Amino acid sequence: KDYPFEQNADLPSPSALKPHYDVVIIGGGGHGVATAYYLAKYHGITNVAVLEKGYLGGGNTARNTAVIRSNYLTSEGVKFYSESVKLFQGLSNEFDFNIMYSSRGQLTLAHTDAAIRGFRQRTEVNKHFGGKTELIDPQQIRELVPSLNMNPADQPVLAGLWHIDGATARHDAVAWGYAKGATQRGVELHQLTEVTGVDVDKGKVTGVQTNRGKVSCGCVVQAVAGHSSIVGAMAGIRMPITTYPLQAMVTQPVKPFLNPLVSSPALHCYVQQTGRGELVFGGGSDPYPLYNTRSTMELKESLLAHAVELFPFMANMRLMRQWAGLTDMTTDYSPVMGLSPVENYYLDAGWGTWGFKATPICGKTMAELVATGKVPELIKPFSMARFDTFRQVNEMGATAASH
Ligand code: FAD
Repeated sequence: KDYPFEQNADLPSPSALKPHYDVVIIGGGGHGVATAYYLAKYHGITNVAVLEKGYLGGGNTARNTAVIRSNYLTSEGVKFYSESVKLFQGLSNEFDFNIMYSSRGQLTLAHTDAAIRGFRQRTEVNKHFGGKTELIDPQQIRELVPSLNMNPADQPVLAGLWHIDGATARHDAVAWGYAKGATQRGVELHQLTEVTGVDVDKGKVTGVQTNRGKVSCGCVVQAVAGHSSIVGAMAGIRMPITTYPLQAMVTQPVKPFLNPLVSSPALHCYVQQTGRGELVFGGGSDPYPLYNTRSTMELKESLLAHAVELFPFMANMRLMRQWAGLTDMTTDYSPVMGLSPVENYYLDAGWGTWGFKATPICGKTMAELVATGKVPELIKPFSMARFDTFRQVNEMGATAASH
């Protein structure tokens, strides 16, 4: 038996790799298994292998802070993420598996006039595409979050971007739900299976090499989050990406007091209370590129200093865990999706610090691309070619914490 890993009872354990698959998906994170699920469900394509070097959803899917929102800055971004939020809302029913989707609104704080101007633009773009986003004043903020310090670090809160569609969900459950739905339809999920090389013949992908042998295939979807440059290079593709660690942390559980997700880009800090009562904090990326998922004292001190400015009583709370993931950042803070310079090799990359919320729509659009060979309208703006034609989709102003 070349497969030493027993899968969860809900997931069939494939024993050996087949010599050929119609589709190989590299990466068993949320994006990879969502693509497999929609390929099987909507397009009847089931001779599919998802190859995961670790365990299902053990990459950034398990490490993110689970913020779901669509209040982006560009029309391309808002349209794309809005579709994702809509899909998220139906996932528990669709999977018959509770992903603990919790719709509680996201509040972003403005501490300067310039930030208010940016928020106005985001409000209007959001509303235009049917999103529920409003610019609110300090009194409305006090009512929404009574425990918030309205003058953190001597930077008074002047206004807020109130995104009613903001939500959160159990991130692991999203991967488990998609994996269950995909494998029930015949897709194979191979954990502990690392892709070590990509075979390309005359500009076209023909297969992949793995630590468990060689597999030929009709096409490949690369969905490896923080390893996009490394895996892309195996296919001879140079990605427009720099990789930084991104850290997060969580406190002991306390009585529920914070319903909305709260973020202050100026203070590089966002916070939400989980259904279990813990407070999850996120902040900016580490300030230098690195392939390492260690936690640092430096980030802990700077992030918590700002968190305590926002909610002073948190100074008495205990931290339970701190962790990091690897984030592939593009210069315009938008993803790289669609075709690549290698025929039949499709990219779902550049997901930086913002890709959990996009999991359903990535799966759906990547599946459509594979099945039809045509790039769906929603992801056309995110093609890698935009970096050659200077048509970037700049979402830097819409991050939850400035990076
Ligand atoms: P992953 O879950 O990382 O899946 C990729 C998989 O590829 C991994 O499991 C990895 O093991 C596998 N892999 C890599 N190389 C190989 C190989 N050679 N062979 C086989 N398998 C391979 N996004 C949000 O929307 N909201 C947030 O609040 C948010 N917070 C974040 C907080 C932190 C601390 C971090 C690190 C990220 C955050 N993100 C957030 C970003 C989000 O987590 C990612 O963009 C998203 O999870 C990417 O999904 P994925 O399925 O592509 O990646």
